[in-house]
Amino acid sequence: MEPIISTALLTQLLTWRAVIDIVLVAAGLYVFYRTLLGLGTWKMVSGILIAIVIFLFANLLDLRGIEWVFSNISQVAVIAIIIIFQPEIRKLLERTATIRRAKTGKYSDEFSQMLSEAVFAMADRRQGAIIVLPGNDPINEWLSGGYPLDAKVSVPLILSIFDPNSPGHDGAMITEKGRFTRFGVRLPLSQSAKLSDDYGTRHHAAMGLAEKSDAMAIVVSEERGKVSVFINGRMEPVTGREDLVRWISGHWQNTLSYPMDLQKGKPRWLVFSQMTASLAVAVLFYSSLIIAQGEVLEKVVTVPVEYTASPAHLVLAGEKAKDVRLHLSGPKSDLNSVSPDQVNVKIDLSKAVAGKQTFLITQDNIRLPRGVSLLDVVPQRIELELTEILVHEITIRPQLVGRLPANLAIRSIEVTPEKLKVLSPVTQKKEVAASIITTPIYLESITDDTQLFCKIIAPPSIQPIDKRWPDVQVTIRVKRN
Ligand code: ATP
Ligand code: MG
Repeated sequence: MEPIISTALLTQLLTWRAVIDIVLVAAGLYVFYRTLLGLGTWKMVSGILIAIVIFLFANLLDLRGIEWVFSNISQVAVIAIIIIFQPEIRKLLERTATIRRAKTGKYSDEFSQMLSEAVFAMADRRQGAIIVLPGNDPINEWLSGGYPLDAKVSVPLILSIFDPNSPGHDGAMITEKGRFTRFGVRLPLSQSAKLSDDYGTRHHAAMGLAEKSDAMAIVVSEERGKVSVFINGRMEPVTGREDLVRWISGHWQNTLSYPMDLQKGKPRWLVFSQMTASLAVAVLFYSSLIIAQGEVLEKVVTVPVEYTASPAHLVLAGEKAKDVRLHLSGPKSDLNSVSPDQVNVKIDLSKAVAGKQTFLITQDNIRLPRGVSLLDVVPQRIELELTEILVHEITIRPQLVGRLPANLAIRSIEVTPEKLKVLSPVTQKKEVAASIITTPIYLESITDDTQLFCKIIAPPSIQPIDKRWPDVQVTIRVKRN
């Protein structure tokens, strides 16, 4: 095997076009990776990744079966993936399109401590609540109802708002940049079956938002006195105040560092190594693409021969080649598209003359994909014999089978038409004289003068002048002994 990293490959990788290509692919991979990480759709994605790895492997080893299955599934799969991941793709596009808003406020320690204290106080009192901490996605489109507010967070305020006796306790409280901005808000209910029906609308509403956006919702259950967070389409139990503080600051850091904010949150080296990994994958992908395109293979295929434009007065006689074997070479991807149902050899008979002649098969007889070249053809030449077709007039002979009943004898037989004009090749002149006959007429069944309609039976070399054989009328007259 040749060394994978050849100088030829390097020169192809270092053109400005390739560099732009690689950087874009790497950026796409990175954003995709971060998004998937944020969305928690890993199970499905890892399934697809495994399928891709199997395919690359099969491609490398030339495992025909797997390649065939994949190449046939892949087009459908692309559409299926777009449909399955429609919400994710939408978010991805939304995120790339929204300019990152400035983060002025922070969920300072004070904020998360206060929130945790209030939440667990409500849990102790069995006071239901939902508090929403947005991520990077805009969530306004998912919210409805509620009342505007612009307030600094405090424990008494939270307890008052979610007090079951207060008119605004129903629904969710929205925070923004560490402040309360809206309360009594309705969230979209989850449509999925992720959450069991033991949970009521409050939990389903929190799940709905967590499925549709990267926001985090903190839920205090009135019935159970339990606290949970809903994030990335999952429900996670919260064990205590410290746990909730961790959830809040984790959420804050995750969203802050999305997608490539280096100032706060995640350590620089982590983001840097993820970017490097994306770049490495992109380079690898690009190199394998170049190698695959440059890889020249040879292939032998048997393809059909098609004879075209034969002159009207000539016909092919005797044996003729039905297919030829082509020995081809070219890039793997192009060779794959050469198959008997897509490629054939055309032999143009428009200049053919009567008699024996030889036709050479060259590149001109075959339409091959660009980049594929013809090394050899077997056979290289095709011998053909063409004969002239002439019009003859032949007598139609009635085909009589058996004998008439004992007391009868034939008086006359009349065939209409008596003769027929036919086309037949010149060399078979003698056979032509051998005539054409009607379908059998069984004499035993004839008791009187009879008129019959018969079809014509002719050897394949004789053809009717107007495509179809006419019906023939046979009249048999008998006499009694
Ligand atoms: P809990 O464990 O607290 O009983 P639950 O999941 O069983 O919660 P329900 O008992 O149905 O839910 O709670 C109803 C409350 O949930 C309502 O009073 C309202 O405050 C809140 N709620 C219901 N629907 C929504 C919604 N779409 N958005 C926000 N809050 C909602
Ligand atoms: Mg309930």
